[in-house]
Amino acid sequence: MQKGPGAVALEIKRLTLAHLRGVDGNTWPVHGFVVLFPGGAALVDTGVGGPQRWLDDWRVVNRSVADALEELDLTPGDVGLVINTHLHFDHCGQNAVFKHASFYVQRAELQRARIESPKLTDWFDFMNAKFELLDGDAEVLPGLQVITTPGHTVGHQSVLVDSADGLSDALVGDAAYKPRMYLDPATDDLPEGQARDLEAWRASVGRIRSAAPDRVHFCHDTEVIHS
Ligand SMILES: [Zn+2]
Repeated sequence: MQKGPGAVALEIKRLTLAHLRGVDGNTWPVHGFVVLFPGGAALVDTGVGGPQRWLDDWRVVNRSVADALEELDLTPGDVGLVINTHLHFDHCGQNAVFKHASFYVQRAELQRARIESPKLTDWFDFMNAKFELLDGDAEVLPGLQVITTPGHTVGHQSVLVDSADGLSDALVGDAAYKPRMYLDPATDDLPEGQARDLEAWRASVGRIRSAAPDRVHFCHDTEVIHS
C-alpha cells in the first residue's frame, strides 16, 4: 500500500507488563503496546500499579514497564507520549514512570476516573501531569489515530495504526477483553465488567470492526486476530 503524504513509518511492539487473575478466574496477560515512529515512541497503556492489597486481590505478577521497554532497547525517556485507552488500574498503573510525557486521554474518561477511582488519582493525576484531553476521535500522529469506543467505560478509546508494512492495526484496550467478545458482540455471555453500558459497548465493537483493521490486538489476550 502506498503511503500518503506526511505518513510516517510506524511499527507496533507488544509488551507483557503483568499477569493477573481475570474476572473469569483464568490467568490473563496485561499487554501494553509501543508504537515506534521515526525519532520516538508512543506507549499505549502502562500496565498495573499498586497498592499491594490490590495486587494480592487480583493475583498480579507485575513487571516494571522500564524493564519491559529495555527488551526493545528503549527507556522511559524515549516515550514522549502515552495514550491510555482508559483509566482502570491495569491500564494506567505505571503512568507516573512517564512524568515527562504527554497523556492522551478522553476528557470524559478523566472526569469519570476522578469521581469513581479517587484512590487511583495519584497514579494518573500526579502533580503536573501533562494531559492532552480529547473530546472525540483524534489524529495523534500521521497514521496514529484514536477513536472513541465507549461502553466498557464512558471515555474508553481505541487506537488505529497504519503500520509500515502496509497493514492496519487496532489496539482495542478493554473495548473487548478477548477475541470471543470482539468476534461475537451480540452474545449475552459477557464477563463481569466488560460492558458498563451494553448498547454503547456493542456499538463500539461495531465501530472498530467497521474500520476493518488487518490485525486486532488485545490487552488481555495474546492472540492477534487477522482479517
Ligand atoms: Zn478496564
